[in-house]
Amino acid sequence: MSFKSLGLSQSLLHAVDKQGYKEPSPIQQKAIPVILERKDVLASAQTGTGKTAGFTLPILEILSQGKQLRRRPIRSLILTPTRELAAQIYDNVKAYSEFLHLETSVIFGGVKQHNQVREIKNGVDILVATPGRLLDLHNQGLLSLAHVEILVLDEADRMLDMGFLRDIKRILKLVPDRRQNLLFSATFSKEIKQLAGSFMHDPEMVEATPENTAVEKIIQKIYKVDKSQKAQLLTKLINEGDWQQALIFTRTKHGANRLSRKLDQKGISSAAIHGDKSQGARTKALAGFKEGKVRVLVATDIAARGLDIPLLPHVVNYELPHVSEDYVHRIGRTGRAGASGEAISLVAPEEGDLVKAIEKLLGEKIPVEQIEGFSVKESVSVQKVKVVSKAPKQKDSSVEPGKKKSLNWKRKKSSDQRNSDKVGKERNKKRSFGNSAKNKSQGGGSSGRRKKRY
Ligand code: AMP
Repeated sequence: MSFKSLGLSQSLLHAVDKQGYKEPSPIQQKAIPVILERKDVLASAQTGTGKTAGFTLPILEILSQGKQLRRRPIRSLILTPTRELAAQIYDNVKAYSEFLHLETSVIFGGVKQHNQVREIKNGVDILVATPGRLLDLHNQGLLSLAHVEILVLDEADRMLDMGFLRDIKRILKLVPDRRQNLLFSATFSKEIKQLAGSFMHDPEMVEATPENTAVEKIIQKIYKVDKSQKAQLLTKLINEGDWQQALIFTRTKHGANRLSRKLDQKGISSAAIHGDKSQGARTKALAGFKEGKVRVLVATDIAARGLDIPLLPHVVNYELPHVSEDYVHRIGRTGRAGASGEAISLVAPEEGDLVKAIEKLLGEKIPVEQIEGFSVKESVSVQKVKVVSKAPKQKDSSVEPGKKKSLNWKRKKSSDQRNSDKVGKERNKKRSFGNSAKNKSQGGGSSGRRKKRY
């Protein structure tokens, strides 16, 4: 399937081509036509599936066809949980709208509001925002949402996890009743369904990953290691594997700082990224990582959410998350946009229960390996850790998180792992979602387009 066949205008096709996208990803194939029909859409898609273009391209198409109002009121509002994600969506919207006469702006907290307010005053068609700063500016009378035609709730599950439900409800009262609603979420809990039911009109259900698609998954591995030896093992993996870029997850902010310091001491350039870091520090760390100046990014779950680092070859769980679903989000940072990747978990004996919970959620065992010189003292008394799994109890096969199929959009591995280390050089290559997209489009595109009433 081509982007052209989705009904996008020449300006958008040009922009997509400039990005190097050869064909629409599965979520794009399904979501774009439905959004262009002006229907409400409830989409099950994780970061890394191409979902941003999935909603941005049709929004741009619709807005560019609509009547241009002289003062450019905000006509599309994209709400997203984190600053990083907001900045990333903004970059995407800017890139895709390069050949259109539409203005986009982004607002989030943690930075002065002055520049954001000035841009909005000058007129923007599309506003990307985190809920807190949006309400803050609205309360000060600095922006109006009275002309919003298309509302997007991106990463809705994470917004609820982060406690934004009340803010979202307030925002819903500020936008006109007559509008198109798009909700994107990696998981569909009872709360998400309730929220969707409260404001969406007869939404069409769109899924990124139909079952039984023969694509290769992310390579997952567990290395058993005592807690006290984790830093040493990680250093060995990075040095001996000649990793040029890796994303390492820790459970706490202090843990992230501590590990980053240790890596620096061992001559591995790293940066920590977490909620206590200022926006400037986060942006700098991320930019350094993307430019290859920083080899390792150590992150907590919330900070890492939404990071867009194409072709990231290695993700390491330095500590397993207490929430099993975070494991799925974490490993989704590798093998982005059709590339293959490796997700390694360094597991101490006391994390055994977490492994079990994650495997239950995944519906599969993660292969375990032991590295010489890093034996675990199995005899130590195994401390029980609290396991939290937010997987919905009742089966909802279409959207249940963490099932194998949720990772299945990845395309067949095309190069060996060492090649994928050379990510910096590869970035500008033409990118394609490969076979999986083709299989799905040929195999009856409507399978994932199901009507669902709430
Ligand atoms: P997202 O899921 O929106 O965060 O996108 C993940 C990555 O996929 C981003 O780096 C996009 O630039 C990239 N991407 C989006 N659509 C396509 C496509 N059709 N082909 C190749 N890469 C894409």
